[in-house]
Amino acid sequence: MLKKVYEILLNRFGPQGWWPVYSKNKKYEICIGAILTQNTAWNNVEKALSNLRKDNLLEPKEILRISEKKLKRLIKPAGFFNQKAKRIKRFTKFFLDNPDPTREELLAIKGIGPETADSILLYAFNKPEFVIDAYTKRIFSRFGLIKTQKYSKIKLLFEKRIKKDVKIYKEYHALIVKLAKEYCRKKPICERCPLKNICKKTESSH
Ligand code: SF4
Repeated sequence: MLKKVYEILLNRFGPQGWWPVYSKNKKYEICIGAILTQNTAWNNVEKALSNLRKDNLLEPKEILRISEKKLKRLIKPAGFFNQKAKRIKRFTKFFLDNPDPTREELLAIKGIGPETADSILLYAFNKPEFVIDAYTKRIFSRFGLIKTQKYSKIKLLFEKRIKKDVKIYKEYHALIVKLAKEYCRKKPICERCPLKNICKKTESSH
């Protein structure tokens, strides 16, 4: 079923081209985006990234060079800027010392949880780690495929059923985000959803 969902979504929405990167240091920009997007919407992250980009600061050495105060000011649009500035500084030191980090190493950094670690591994380091976010939990609970909200269990389910392929994992996550934004919103628009014929939530109506 998870494979079928992927095919339907890809067919409806097409490739999403996620993660968007604009600076030279793509890997680093993705990592910083993954930290900035914690508890906030992507359009706020874009504003923060654009502030950093304007000053050519999306480089690890530059981020370590500027003061925490300045960093806070630049990333303010992404919210929780006090915490996030500390996280970014801490992560950046780690990034410079660890060119090929493991999941365990990332999770050991204060402020990096499983979702951030998996986003970094998948999108920046091209490792086949499936990313689970609030959208994934919402859609697949409604859909009737998951009964737990536990990150590790949901991740395992996807990784068991979907071939470990970086390209597919990247695309699948992006398609989930797209579906959640377009149809499976807080208040779902089931009538127009591409999954309506196979979703448990609409089962009674067809
Ligand atoms: S049919 Fe409704 S509940 Fe099911 S995935 Fe689509 S929008 Fe969400």
